[in-house]
Amino acid sequence: MGFWVRVALDVPVQGLFDYCSAVFVPIGTRVIVPFGRRKLVGVVVDTPSQPAIDPGIAKLVEEVLDDTPALPPDWLRLASFAAQYYQRPLGEVMLPALPAGLRKVSAYQGKRSAGGPVRRMDKRAKPEPAIVGADVPPALNPAQAQAMQAIAGQQGHKTILLHGVTGSGKTEVYLHAAQAVLARGGQVLFMVPEINLTPQLEQSLRTRLAGIAGGEMLAVMHSGLADGERLRAWMRAHRGEARVLLGTRLSIFAPLPDLGLIIVDEEHDASYKQQDGLRYSARDLAVWRGRDRNIPVVLGSATPSLESWNHAETGHYLRFSLPERAKAVELPSVRLVDTRRLAMQQGFSPQLIKALGERLEAGQQSLIFLNRRGYAPVLNCASCGWVSQCPRCTAYTVLHRAGTARRNYLQCHHCGYQARVPHACPDCGDQDLKPMGRGTQRVEEYLAELFPSARIARIDADSTRLKGSAAALFAKVHAGEVDLLVGTQMVAKGHDFANLGLVGVLNADAMLFAQDFRAPERLFAQLMQVAGRAGRHVKGGEVIIQTDYPEQPVYQALLRHDYPGFAEYGLAEREAVGLPPYAYQALLTAEARELAAALDFLAHARQLPERFADQYPTASALTLYDPVPLRVVRVANIERAQLLVESANRPALQAFLTTWASALATEARAFRVRWNLEVDPLEI
Ligand code: ADP
Ligand code: ZN
Ligand code: ZN
Repeated sequence: MGFWVRVALDVPVQGLFDYCSAVFVPIGTRVIVPFGRRKLVGVVVDTPSQPAIDPGIAKLVEEVLDDTPALPPDWLRLASFAAQYYQRPLGEVMLPALPAGLRKVSAYQGKRSAGGPVRRMDKRAKPEPAIVGADVPPALNPAQAQAMQAIAGQQGHKTILLHGVTGSGKTEVYLHAAQAVLARGGQVLFMVPEINLTPQLEQSLRTRLAGIAGGEMLAVMHSGLADGERLRAWMRAHRGEARVLLGTRLSIFAPLPDLGLIIVDEEHDASYKQQDGLRYSARDLAVWRGRDRNIPVVLGSATPSLESWNHAETGHYLRFSLPERAKAVELPSVRLVDTRRLAMQQGFSPQLIKALGERLEAGQQSLIFLNRRGYAPVLNCASCGWVSQCPRCTAYTVLHRAGTARRNYLQCHHCGYQARVPHACPDCGDQDLKPMGRGTQRVEEYLAELFPSARIARIDADSTRLKGSAAALFAKVHAGEVDLLVGTQMVAKGHDFANLGLVGVLNADAMLFAQDFRAPERLFAQLMQVAGRAGRHVKGGEVIIQTDYPEQPVYQALLRHDYPGFAEYGLAEREAVGLPPYAYQALLTAEARELAAALDFLAHARQLPERFADQYPTASALTLYDPVPLRVVRVANIERAQLLVESANRPALQAFLTTWASALATEARAFRVRWNLEVDPLEI
C-alpha cells in the first residue's frame, strides 16, 4: 500500500515517528506530516520495512519537500551524534539546525505560500559584491610555512592546534591552507566566534579567493542575517556552490558535500558554546565532524583552552607555535601596578594617570579596559546602609547616567528591570545617596575631568545599542578622532587599532576571584587579548594592569606573555583536584517559582541512581554532588538551583546521562519545575 518512513520532528518527546507514504522517500528528505492537530516539517531518518506502530493507525505523509537536495548522510550522522552526546531528542537537534524557511510549514502551505521558500528566493538572488582585486599574500615565514604544510599536507583526519599571539600570522596560515584545499576541490568551513569578526575576514577571503575561482565561492552565515539571507547561504553551501563558508557557531551544522578542512579561529572563545536549547560546543563538534569526514581540523588561538592544550600535550593533537609577531613590531610590555599601598583616585593609580598623560602628549591613543558597564554597580545610603536592589532578582541594580540627572536610572543587568533613582533613601529618608564602585560611564567622566582637552569615546553595550553605532564608534577610533577609549570586552576582540600605544586594565581582580574554576583561564585569555590591541603598529606599546595581587600566577605569566607557563600551572592545579580536562562534567539545572521546588526536584534526581541501581550500572564511576542554589539564585522571580555530575570516565558518564535524562523527562512532571541538562558546561 505504500512505503514507511521514520521521521524526526521538533517536539520535546524522545523518539521518532513513523508515517506512511505513497511514494518512496529517500533518507534525508524533508516532509510535512500531521502531528496531533498540527502539521510539522520533519526529516526522514530511516525507511523501515515495517513500522514500529500499528499500521492501522499510521498517518500519511502530506507533502514531500523536494525543493532542496536531500540532507547528506554525514549531516545526519553529525546531528545524531549531537543528539546523543548532548542528550536531546534527534528532532530537537535537526530541525533547529535548518534555516527557518526550510522547517516551517507556513513556508509551504497556506494562503500566502508560493510553494516553498527556496524557489522564490532564487528569483530574488542578489549579485555578489564585486571583487576589489586579488592582493599579494606575504611569503610565509618558516614557522608559518611549517604549520601550513602540516595542515595542507594532512592525509586524513588530524586536529592541529595553532598557537600564536595576536599578530603572529595565524590568519595567514589559515588562508594559505584554505587555498591549498580549495585548489584540490575541497570546501572549507571557517569559523569565528563573533559576527563582529566576520567583515574583516570576509574581505581578506574575497580578495584571496578571487585568485582561484572568483569571490562567489564565499558564503557567510551568522545569527545577524535575515532569514532569507541565511537560507541563501545555507543553500549555496549545501549545493556546493559556496566553496568557503565563513560563519559563527551555527555554521557547524551547515551541510558541505565536499568539506575538506575546518578552521576554528579563537578556539578558546566561550561564544562557540550555545547557551540555550541544544547546548553544544561548535568547537567540539568541529573536531568530531573532522574525524567523521576524515579531514584536518585547525584550532587556532593565542590562549588555547586548557582542554585543547592538554590534548596537544598528550599527543592527541598536533601543535604548532608561531612564537613572534609576523611584522617587526614587538609585543607590548606588561607592567603590574601593585595597588595595595597606593593613593588611588577614582580607581586610577598615579602610574596609570602619568602614562596616559605621556601617550596623549605623544599623540597616541590609549584604551582603558573595564568589564563593567553603567556608572556605578550600586547606589548606597551612607547613614543606614541601604543598597539599590532588583525586586525580581538577587542582584544589585546598577546606576546609569542618561543625559540629565532627572533621567538617570537604576537597571538590573540580570533581568533588565529599570527604576528611577530615588531622591532619598527609601528606608531612612536620608538624601545622601552615593554611587559605590565604578563602571565605564564613571571612568569616562573622570577621564574628562583629568584630561579636559582629550577626545574621549566609550564603547560598551549601552553606547552601542542603536544599530550601526558600534561600527560608527570604531570608525572614529580608527580615523584617529579619539584619544582615550573606555571599553568593556567589546573592544578586546579582533580590532586592529593603528595608533594605540597604551592599554590600562581596571578591576581585573574581580574577574580573577569569580567563583567559577575557569575564571583564571578566562581572565588570562581576556587580558592577553586586550594586551594584543596595544602596540600593533606603534613602537613601545605598554599594558598596565592594576591589581592587589601581583604575585598571582595569572599576572606573573602575563608579565612574560607566557601562555605555556600559565597552562602548565593551570593544568597541574586542575589535575590535583580532578577538574576538567581531567574529569568530565554535566550540570542539571532546575528552575521554579519556589527554591524548595527546584531543590526537591534535584534531590529526587540525585536519588534515582540509588533507587534504580540496576538501570545505572556505571553510577559507581560518577560523583553526584549536592544540589545547590545558583549564586544569583533568583532572576526575574524564578529561583534556580543546580546539581553537578562528574566522572573521570567519559563513556561511563555518557551511559549514565542517557538513562538519567529520559527518567528526568518523566519524573519532572510531578515537580512543577523547568530543567535542563548541560554536557560539558562552561560555567558552574
Ligand atoms: P593573527 O591571525 O595571528 O593575529 P595575522 O595573520 O592577522 O595574525 O597577521 C598579522 C599581520 O602580519 C597582518 O597584517 C598580516 O598581513 C601580517 N603578516 C602575516 N604573516 C606575514 C608574513 N609572513 N610576512 C609579513 N607579514 C605578515
Ligand atoms: Zn538610608
Ligand atoms: Zn533583576
